[in-house]
Parts: sequence; structure tokens; C-alpha cells
Amino acid sequence: MKGTDADPSVCRLADSFMPVLITKSLSKSYGSLSILTDITISVQAGESISITGPSGSGKSTLLHIIGTLDEPTSGFVMIEGEDPSKLDDGALSRFRNERIGFVFQDAYLLPQFSVLENVLLPIRAFGNVTENDQARGRDLLQTVGLGERLTHLPAQLSGGERQRVAIARSLIMRPRLLLCDEPTGNLDQQTADQVTETILKTSVGDDRALILITHSDTLASRTNRHFRLREGQCYEV
Ligand code: ADP
Ligand code: MG
Repeated sequence: MKGTDADPSVCRLADSFMPVLITKSLSKSYGSLSILTDITISVQAGESISITGPSGSGKSTLLHIIGTLDEPTSGFVMIEGEDPSKLDDGALSRFRNERIGFVFQDAYLLPQFSVLENVLLPIRAFGNVTENDQARGRDLLQTVGLGERLTHLPAQLSGGERQRVAIARSLIMRPRLLLCDEPTGNLDQQTADQVTETILKTSVGDDRALILITHSDTLASRTNRHFRLREGQCYEV
């Protein structure tokens, strides 16, 4: 900024204290049906939080609003200090692509692309894939235990392996916010445990904040904080 001599190191320090995510008085209703009421939470870089709650309690709705895939009826979301609702559609797609990683219950891999190509899709969505990107994709796949499966197609993988590809894909853009919606919901217990370990292991890097929706109290106990959604409200456990 001209004339103000802002010290870049002070700016970086300020950034490191800014929560990755703030939700302020979020509410969501469909007509007279109220789903979420006045939800205010703040998540710092390096922090992991889990959200549990009965089926239909609004967990996915909350995650979709946080992930800019849906809009609240009132209240707002700030991601790294920015209000995504101020962005037009094109800028919002880019913002989401760069800042937020998603892992859903289904891996949503493209069947005609290899494992490595699937991981690189978020880069391809807005630009060219460089040698460095390829190397990072291979490293991520190594980290999730699929270093030997780079050229395989999704149909050649098990359900747990497909979820691990989805985890690598969610991290390729180095998002500060990782959102997981029941990522182990379709897996047997042993595979679910492996996928959980992979998420917890990879979520701490790059000063990332993790929000994990789960049915499992055991899994929820592994995160720094645990919230429960009930009758539209969010309680810290
Ligand atoms: P959870 O993920 O906790 O199982 P959801 O967030 O998927 O719950 O859904 C919460 C509630 O919102 C449910 O009662 C669901 O029927 C309702 N709901 C979700 N989407 C819509 C919609 N587009 N129109 C009306 N009701 C909806
Ligand atoms: Mg759900």
C-alpha cells in the first residue's frame, strides 16, 4: 500500500491469527421449516473439529453453506477473512477451488481418468498442469498409500482406495480449509479406520483447518473440538 509502509512480516503475523473459518449467526430454513438456527463458530489454522448429530439434523446443510455450495437464509461465512457471498459466480468457483478441499461420502472420481489424473483435476479446472503439479500429485498419492497405483483407473480400486484418492485430490490445491462429510460412511470398519487415519494425518499440514462430519463418536474424539447438532443448534461437547 502506497504511503503506509505496511510491514509484510506484521501482515503475515496478522494472517496467522485470523481464523480460517468464521460462521456468524448462520440460519437456514426452507419455508417454515427451520434447519439451522444462529450458528456461530470459529476455526483456526491447524485446528480440527468434528460435527455429529442424528440423520436429518442439518450436518450436510451446514457443511454445504460453509463450503459455499449453498447459501444461508441469514448470517454469513468468512473464509480467511473474506466473505464469499460478495463474489460473482466465476470468482466464487475459483475461490472454492483454491481455498476449500472437499471429501464426501462418495469419492466422485471420473471413471475414464487415471488415479493421478483425478488428483490433478482441480488444477486442470483453471489452468495447466506443470511438472511440479505432477510431482506433488504423486507425493500426495504416496502419502495416502497409493504411490503404486498412479495409472490405475477408479474401477480398479476398492472403495477405501477410491476415498484415499479423493483425499489426495482435496489437498492438491493446498486448501486452508478441508471439509469432510461422512467420508467413511460407505466403508467397512477396518477400511473406515484406515481412511480416518489418512485424513487426520494429512489434515494437519499447510496450517489447515479440518471440519469432519461423522456418525462416529470415536472418530469425533480424535479431533481438537467436537460439536453436536441438535434441533438446529450447535453445542460444543
Ligand atoms: P444430515 O446431513 O444431518 O443428515 P441434511 O443437512 O442433509 O441432514 O438435512 C437436514 C434437513 O433439511 C432434513 O430434514 C432435510 O430433509 C432438509 N432439507 C435438505 N435439503 C432440503 C431442500 N432442498 N428442501 C427442503 N428440505 C431440505
Ligand atoms: Mg448428511
